[in-house]
Amino acid sequence: MALDLNTLHFASAASRCAYVIVFLVMALSQSRQAYLWHWMGAMGTSMAGSLIMMSVSPDTLPPVPITMITYWLYSASLVLSWTGLREFFGRRINVGLSVALIALPGILYPALLGLGLSTRLSIAAIFACCCVVAVLATYETVRVTAGAERLWSQYIESVAFGFYALVFVLSIGILIGTDLPIASAESARSSMIMDQVTGVFVYLGYVAMAAERANRTLLRLAETDPLTGLFNRRGLQTMLRRYFRGSDSLPMGGVLILDIDHFKSINDQYGHECGDLVLNAFAARTKAALRSPDILARWGGEEFLVVLPGVNQRELLEVAERLRSNIAERSFPLPTGALTATVSIGAAMMLQGGARFEDVTKIADAALYDAKAQGRNCVRLGR
Ligand code: GH3
Ligand code: MG
Ligand code: MG
Repeated sequence: MALDLNTLHFASAASRCAYVIVFLVMALSQSRQAYLWHWMGAMGTSMAGSLIMMSVSPDTLPPVPITMITYWLYSASLVLSWTGLREFFGRRINVGLSVALIALPGILYPALLGLGLSTRLSIAAIFACCCVVAVLATYETVRVTAGAERLWSQYIESVAFGFYALVFVLSIGILIGTDLPIASAESARSSMIMDQVTGVFVYLGYVAMAAERANRTLLRLAETDPLTGLFNRRGLQTMLRRYFRGSDSLPMGGVLILDIDHFKSINDQYGHECGDLVLNAFAARTKAALRSPDILARWGGEEFLVVLPGVNQRELLEVAERLRSNIAERSFPLPTGALTATVSIGAAMMLQGGARFEDVTKIADAALYDAKAQGRNCVRLGR
């Protein structure tokens, strides 16, 4: 299959127009996501560079000023891709270094020619600069930062920019190690095909990254209680599915349901906002009193649920008692003064191969009802 230059020019122009429209709409509709503007800039500058290259003859090298502008545009495209990736991953952007990396190839080209270096070696030096930026962009997508989220789609960019870097290395090898012509229809064809294929991966990869990030954020919001930052019921289900790991039976351990006593009267007496402060402080204090494998969720209103994997009945009741006294013995500081609150707790054991989670929570709920009936501020175990 022989692809002629006109067909390649048309395909390149058509796809870049489509990318620009898609990224412009994305950037405008999510204007606070600065990385989208970087990537749109990357595409715009690369498109402008390609338009210039299309308008010059492939058989001769363009005049030096045109070459300088084209290198500036292409290096701006690579650097904006790199800074966009840094922005996406929340890493600081060094503006001075970015500007220097953009400016360098365009300045280097006439400077090296002026120093008497051959055109081949001057172009090789510029490709080396571009290769460094492609490697930096690859590095952003593969580096591991503790605690940072990792997306499947970021590896599309690793492959695309890794490939870019490889092509630059190969081109440098050809320039230095062979005497193949620098400007020919054949070399223009190869670089356009390479650019077309990599461009599809780079720009569709960006769209995939933005979509995957948005999806994860929505899922996290849907699983989080906005007031306390704890899992809500949905988040709890997700966490439990992870614990179950496909098995039908519950893991060993226990469940506690905590219900703040007379919370309605706290709201009535001090106002809903103070009620919210108490809920928040209650959640933070309870979480701080648990071990890391324990899951604390807001079960609803002023009720919280704790899953304690691996505990036996004695340990479950010990933890419940600790949580209860942790609330009763220390008051909550409110703008209106200190407030003392108490909590009633219903406990139930999860037995391996036993009942479903809903059945265990029903038992804990019944135990909580008993705790309320027996004077509140106490722990009861359901069976
Ligand atoms: P009991 O000791 O029997 O549990 O009494 P209670 O007053 O705590 O229980 P009740 O179920 O009668 O009232 C719960 C209250 O919790 C009523 C509701 O307005 C309040 N509540 C639920 N969600 C929130 C919230 O997000 N913020 C605030 N401030 N109050 C809430
Ligand atoms: Mg309640
Ligand atoms: Mg209550």
